[in-house]
Amino acid sequence: MKTAALVAVGTGAGLTIARCKGKSEIAVPNINHGTSARMKLRFFPYELKLRHVFTVSSYSRTTTPDVQVEIEYDGVTGYGEASMPQYLGQTVESVSAFLNKVNLEQFDDPFKMEEILTYIDGLSDADPAAKAAVDIALHDLVGKLLGAPWYKIWGLDKTLAPSTTFTIGIDTPDVVREKTKECADLFNILKVKVGTENDKQMIETIREVTDLPIAVDANQGWKDKEYALEMIHWLKEHGIVMVEQPMPIAQLDDTAWLTERSPLPVYADESCQRLRDIRGLQGAFTGINIKLMKCTGMREAWKMVTLARALNMDVMVGCMTETSCAVSAAAQLSPAVDFADLDGNLLISNDRFEGMQVVKGKITLPDLPGIGVKKL
Ligand SMILES: [Mg+2]
Repeated sequence: MKTAALVAVGTGAGLTIARCKGKSEIAVPNINHGTSARMKLRFFPYELKLRHVFTVSSYSRTTTPDVQVEIEYDGVTGYGEASMPQYLGQTVESVSAFLNKVNLEQFDDPFKMEEILTYIDGLSDADPAAKAAVDIALHDLVGKLLGAPWYKIWGLDKTLAPSTTFTIGIDTPDVVREKTKECADLFNILKVKVGTENDKQMIETIREVTDLPIAVDANQGWKDKEYALEMIHWLKEHGIVMVEQPMPIAQLDDTAWLTERSPLPVYADESCQRLRDIRGLQGAFTGINIKLMKCTGMREAWKMVTLARALNMDVMVGCMTETSCAVSAAAQLSPAVDFADLDGNLLISNDRFEGMQVVKGKITLPDLPGIGVKKL
């Protein structure tokens, strides 16, 4: 390569075919697009329809509000999404108001992602899902311009992607038994929402059907540390492998006491929203649950993986109920994590995309560029 000249011999589909003397042809993406092109942002509300009523310790629901986002640049479209479960306090109105403030046309180069996404983050103090929607669409666009999926850009080995958990919602024993039977052959690990007075009954009902490992999420449901520790010991005896957010955010000292004594790893979800939260959780939790809708998207999520590893903390990646767009974006990180909870797209009946697949329970990334989705 040292002395060989690169000669452009043809173009097409955003790629320049270049030839090194004596080498086979290589495809070089046109990353220096004409500066006359400008990014255009579009968005529209898209209500997600749930396959089953979804229940956690504090509420039930049958739909989830969602906003779909597209960024078009030089004939290429990047897709993004904001999913807003009610408890996060974001709505179609708040996301739309945020997106109406966004002016991407001021930027002439989508590859200046740091500059663009710092501008997006600076537009408000909140709105993480709306910011994530823009971030995901920009990552999809840039990946498509480069002709590579993000797991490759990050240098990850997709065969290392873990199995995803699949959530069994809180319900009557008969329904729990049926749901467990339906999914026991399709997944390698289940997830159960605990934190109610029926925790032991839920686990025992599932154990009538399957011996699969189980992750539990208490969603801050245990208020007493001694009780939480007793429950975690009981859970370990019943094949549970990890515990998510056992206690309320405000009880960080109690959580640290619990984690120190816990025979299972303890992950922060509600306690860990963004990059800036991680350092304060070191010692109180074993690991963190990264979700794009909490942390403003893929750019910050990747920084969170890096910081957590530097602090010797474990990492999981989770999602909201959302289409294969945001789930596939999160899945690009999955080869770098210890646990993945990426079943949000499987819970809806009106997906707009095909992307990350679950094959024999394992996250399987397509080789499509960007976030790895195609529109249905
Ligand atoms: Mg959780």
